[in-house]
Order: sequence, then structure tokens, then C-alpha cells
Amino acid sequence: MTSPKKGRVFSGARPTGRQHLGNYLGAIKNYVALQDEYDCVYCVVDIHALTTVETTAYLRLNTHEMVLDFLAAGIRPDETIVFVQSQVPEVTELHTFFSMVTSLGKLTDLPTFKDKVRQQPHNINYGLVGYPVLMAADIALYKADAVPVGIDQAPHIEFTREIVRSFNHRYKTDVLVEPQMKATEIPKVLGIDGQNKMSKSLNNHIELAATPEETEARVMQMVTDPQRKRRSDPGNPDVCNVFTMHKIFSSPEEVDRINIECRTAEIGCVECKRLFARNLNKHLEPFRAKRAEFEKEPNYIADVLNDGQKRASVIAKQTIREVKEAIGLPLKNKV
Ligand code: SF4
Repeated sequence: MTSPKKGRVFSGARPTGRQHLGNYLGAIKNYVALQDEYDCVYCVVDIHALTTVETTAYLRLNTHEMVLDFLAAGIRPDETIVFVQSQVPEVTELHTFFSMVTSLGKLTDLPTFKDKVRQQPHNINYGLVGYPVLMAADIALYKADAVPVGIDQAPHIEFTREIVRSFNHRYKTDVLVEPQMKATEIPKVLGIDGQNKMSKSLNNHIELAATPEETEARVMQMVTDPQRKRRSDPGNPDVCNVFTMHKIFSSPEEVDRINIECRTAEIGCVECKRLFARNLNKHLEPFRAKRAEFEKEPNYIADVLNDGQKRASVIAKQTIREVKEAIGLPLKNKV
């Protein structure tokens, strides 16, 4: 049966455990929406994580918690394939084949590789160099037509396209698909410090799975307009991260009111943050209810991932068979 959708989308996410508002607005919300248009394949890229993680002790727990958040946010595992990268090992085979058609000089020249070298000079492993090759293998293995990424990620997709092109050219084949970039507007979500991108490592995040009370406590710590020192000072919502969040989670009437009342000091920051916390908690109510429901079934996440692994394996094995055929490798030894 042919799919009524536009094609297949692939995206990978590192197993970072419980997700926060930045993850939700920057990726998960889009993952959920894409399911209406595309056949989606979402992968927990745990092999990629090995290039930088200091300890692997939390990989399993982080995978579990992240997938739980994905599903609670609306990813539908009956339609979408959700699986763990290391559980479909064909990706490492394709990575090896791709490594033969990729210029080493180009890989070591990539700005992302140079950044990593700066960030972890004590651990410049091969995985860091080969990262884009493995990423290309992830995408090509599932013959993804499109990859949702922010504009700043465009060079990565272009590089994947180049690798696929080199492979197809080298082996005079068209078995692999050059993926298109599905440019996505990814908002820069600031943390509660109001300065840096929201991130767990900076401890400036608001977890989706936090309780309403914890969420309110975090919101009350949010930095507002730094020029507003006293309650009676007029504020400037244009420079305030709380206002940015209101624009996402509050009604247009509330946003208009805050925009006016902040500038005239009719509303104080405490009241403004309480209102945001209330609206955010309301928005997260269905997410929390679903999460609690899934948590009651101890095997639910494992079942979803096992099913995802089976469905992903079918595609991966077929691609590898075609790839080997194209290269000219023996498929089966004759006895
Ligand atoms: Fe920000 Fe609201 Fe305070 Fe204005 S009133 S500075 S929008 S927190």
C-alpha cells in the first residue's frame, strides 16, 4: 500500500533524559506536527552520544525518560517509528561504507569538528571526525526524503547529500536518496537566567515533567527586564524573557495587556510570572496526565522501542542489501 503522506522524515535526538521547554519548543513540538504530513522515523542517537559523554551510566535511563516525554507530548508510536540507534546495527555498516567515499580532509576541516576539538582537547576521538558520516548513514539508511533542521544546520544536510551523491556516483547506482532539508524555524529559547539558551548543563531549564509547584518555583526565578529595579519602575517587555514566553503560552488578550501594563508599571514582575506559570501549567496538563498514564505501565516504553526496532530493522536490512549489491559485495556465500 502506498503512503498517502509526502514522504519519510528522519530525525535523531541524543538521549538527554527528561526534556525541558527548550527541547519542546525547539524540536518535540515540530516532531509531533510532522506526523500529520510525513511518515516519521525518530531515533535516539545513543552511538552519537558516545563521542562526548563522560559516563554511560545514565544512557538507558535517559533514553527511557526522553522517549516517555516524546510520547506524552504526542508522538504516536503506532504510526511513527521510534527506536534506539544502537539497536539497529546496520547503521554502523553503512557508516563504514560511507567512510570510503568521504574525504578525511573535508571532515577535519568542518567547523563542528574544530569546535569539538576546542571543547574536549583531552578526548579527540575518531567518532568526532566521523560524526557527520554516521549522521549521513542514519539518514540514508532509512531513505529519508527530508530532515527537519534549523537553518544553521543546513551545512550538515548538504554534507549528507554530498556523501550520498559520492556513494551513488562511485558505485554507479541510485539506491540511496539525497535527502532534502526541511528548514524549520527553531526559536532560541532562553533559560531562566534570561541570557543563555535553555540547557540542562547550565541548570537554567524548566522540565516538562516537573510538578506544577516545581514549575511555578522555577518560573518565579526567571530573570526579567534587568533595568526594572523596583515595582514602581516601568518595564520593557521587549527585553524580557518572561514576556517572550507569554507570547507562546498566554492568550493574545493577556499578551496585549502585559505589553501595556508592564510599560506603565501597572503590573509587577511577580504577578506577571505567576500568570505565566499558571498558563504554562495549564498547557502542560495533558502532557503530564499522559506521562503519568504511561508510567503506570512499566513495560510500555520498552514495548514501543522494541516495536520501533523491528520496523526500523526491516528498512535498514533492505537498504544494506541494496547497498551491498550496488558495491558488488557478496550477499551470500555459495555452498
Ligand atoms: Fe517582564 Fe512581565 Fe516584569 Fe514586564 S512585568 S518586565 S514582561 S516579567
